Amino acid sequence: MSSFFSQKYAALVPYTPGEQPQDMQYIKLNTNESPFPPSPGVASAVAAEVRKLQLYPDPEATRLREKLAQVCGVDREQVIVTNGSDDVLNFAFMAFADQEHPLAFPDESYGFYPVFAALNQLPYLEIPLRDDFRIEVEDYLGLGRTIVLANPNAPTGLALGREEIRRIVAANPDNVVIVDEAYVDFGGESAVPLVKEYQNLLVTGTFSKSHSMAGARIGFGIGDVALIRDLNTIKYSTNPYNVNRMSAAAALAALEEEAYYKDNCRRIMENREYTTQALRQLGFTVLDSRANFLFARHPSLSGEEVYRDLKRRGVLVRHFNKARIRDFVRITVGTREQMERLLEELTQILEGKT
Ligand code: PMP
Repeated sequence: MSSFFSQKYAALVPYTPGEQPQDMQYIKLNTNESPFPPSPGVASAVAAEVRKLQLYPDPEATRLREKLAQVCGVDREQVIVTNGSDDVLNFAFMAFADQEHPLAFPDESYGFYPVFAALNQLPYLEIPLRDDFRIEVEDYLGLGRTIVLANPNAPTGLALGREEIRRIVAANPDNVVIVDEAYVDFGGESAVPLVKEYQNLLVTGTFSKSHSMAGARIGFGIGDVALIRDLNTIKYSTNPYNVNRMSAAAALAALEEEAYYKDNCRRIMENREYTTQALRQLGFTVLDSRANFLFARHPSLSGEEVYRDLKRRGVLVRHFNKARIRDFVRITVGTREQMERLLEELTQILEGKT
């Protein structure tokens, strides 16, 4: 830390992103990216924008918002697009939480939530998941706090239904409920249809997972017009051009080719079910995932061992060194070939143990 660093941030522990190794080719199952490239129209859309890079992008991302609004069945004014969904989550924490509206989120969820809270000096309560790692709806009724739920949750992959989200939103009318749907396209039930009914619901989403565009950094928020206006106040006070031309064009092109992404999601879900069964046959406990990753543990291997042994064999998964989930690894679901390789390596690792 330099002697110039603000005392305000001296104790800040930043988020640790998953490894993005540049040295060797791994089977990369550690950051929930899609194994499939973007659809064909994306490359030409980006190339056309490159020729206009001397110009700032449209700060309102009008065309992309219009298209997203159409796809989601809402008005354009109910949509904001951002630099990945991390961006909109940060804006939402800034906009909708303070000392009078402290935050609440599950104790095991997206690791960025406590970081955004700390960055913005917002008090937060972590509500324990139940023993089976489920979010219990009753724990979130009438909380008097700004609530943040990843649905499906990460890293568990477990999901709440729309009616369960409705109960939470309806039971907290004086607080915003932020539902982070980064993984919803892999079999979850979106809460977007509820934004028409509830002024306190903000749904966030991303092109990083189901739309094969983690590298483009496109996220979005959908909610009541007034909520979106508030988020824009924050956005225009930090970085009005947070979405660059190439990424906005890429996302728009992707939305014109939805069938491609739907098919990819279907394949990933099929591979997820296949891998879940195979891991269970190897003795793993695997939670019922509605996301593009699996959360699994084995009785005779620690999470650290699984992570380390797989890495040595060229397969990268994610391990979190946190008390409640230390025994688990989180495995991104990739292609069938990648899953076969994972299972082969795990079989050998387990054989080595006996
Ligand atoms: N929410 C959850 C639950 C996530 O796992 C991630 C991915 N790390 C994000 C949001 C943010 O993703 P992005 O900024 O790429 O949209």
